[in-house]
Amino acid sequence: MINVTEYDLVVIGAGSAGLNTAIQCSQSGLNVAVIEEHKKIGFPRHCSGLYSTRFLTMMDVGDNFYEHEVSGAKFHSPSGRTIDLMRKERVAFVINRELLDAHLGNVAKENGVEIFPDTKVLDFTSDENSASVATQNKIFNTKLICGADGSNSFVAKKLGFAAPKKLNGIMAITNEQDNSNCVDLFFDNKLYPGFFAWKIPRGKTTEYGIAGDIGPANVNNFNNFLSKFGVDKYELSSGVIPYGFQKSYSNRILLVGDAASQVKPLTGGGVIYGMICSRIAAQVFTGAVSKNKFDEKSLSSYEKMWRNAIGRGIKRGLAIRKFYSGLSNKNIELAFRLLNNKITKNIFEKYGDMEFFLERRPHDAVVK
Ligand SMILES: Cc1cc2nc3c(=O)[nH]c(=O)nc-3n(C[C@H](O)[C@H](O)[C@H](O)COP(=O)(O)OP(=O)(O)OC[C@H]3O[C@@H](n4cnc5c(N)ncnc54)[C@H](O)[C@@H]3O)c2cc1C
Repeated sequence: MINVTEYDLVVIGAGSAGLNTAIQCSQSGLNVAVIEEHKKIGFPRHCSGLYSTRFLTMMDVGDNFYEHEVSGAKFHSPSGRTIDLMRKERVAFVINRELLDAHLGNVAKENGVEIFPDTKVLDFTSDENSASVATQNKIFNTKLICGADGSNSFVAKKLGFAAPKKLNGIMAITNEQDNSNCVDLFFDNKLYPGFFAWKIPRGKTTEYGIAGDIGPANVNNFNNFLSKFGVDKYELSSGVIPYGFQKSYSNRILLVGDAASQVKPLTGGGVIYGMICSRIAAQVFTGAVSKNKFDEKSLSSYEKMWRNAIGRGIKRGLAIRKFYSGLSNKNIELAFRLLNNKITKNIFEKYGDMEFFLERRPHDAVVK
């Protein structure tokens, strides 16, 4: 029997972006449901969890999900030349992302959000007059829908929004202890075309990863990368990383997080952008309910607001990605020779900011 319930907002997807939207909206008095296809929030793993120290302060989660910390990065050229960019203090935490999402799920519940795990959204409808979300045995009638269903967003697809560009990120976690204080980044446009490979110290474990165009070549490149380090036993995870601008609103619907391609094109990091944009989405959802205005035009302010907050970073990231993708390994070597100097190191030491180095700082009020 199909069961029907009524909400102000139904969020599709219990990742960090969807949960944060749900928490903010519920705290503003909306009646919110979150629907998640997996049984356990945060699982399966699909993220390295490398976040700046500032991000954790903004999120106010202390060091509860902390695995390790780093103070900078070592950049490796195709021939093995290296540049170390380190700060005296730690610049980033390596976090257990699964536990962070599970924590956000608990905060959502404490704030009155109803969560439906192990429930896949199969369809939805929305127009100026009404909206509803359908699962196998339930219809959720709702004033508003939040598409937070990640990089392969079926909400975006059904709305007919042009798909963003996508990369495939693959990571392997080994039992090798690694307490070093820097992340290793490997650049080589033949072995890791258009992106880079990485090694992240996670304290009790070590992570090896790569991102590249979706397809078997990326998997081969990943296997070759692992074999360089003699890695054969590991826990494997992977995911799709979208990048580029994408439409993010329709009648009664806003998209947040990876579903709206709110991702840094240069690093593939999407969690902090998702957090910033979920804050903005919550403001717009709450305003829509109080004004009783749900049409596409009224909701379009969301896109202006989030582009104002993170658009500059995305634009610059896209330009640098395009430039980097066109470089030969010879030119990458040249860049390493030119950048390996005291000035570069001093600039990093003074201004290095892994979250917002390409943009104006999105004001903390948006994130808090
Ligand atoms: C290998 C890899 C490493 C990464 N490392 C980092 C990093 O170090 N730092 C960083 O900032 N970012 C990183 N990212 C990117 C980051 O993981 C994403 O930007 C982030 O997870 C996006 O969060 P989200 O809430 O938008 O989507 P997701 O976390 O993907 O959540 C979407 C949720 O929607 C659910 N869902 C989808 N369809 C349906 C449906 N039909 N019905 C019900 N539920 C549905 C999914 O099950 C999922 O739980 C990495 C990505 C990859 C692939």
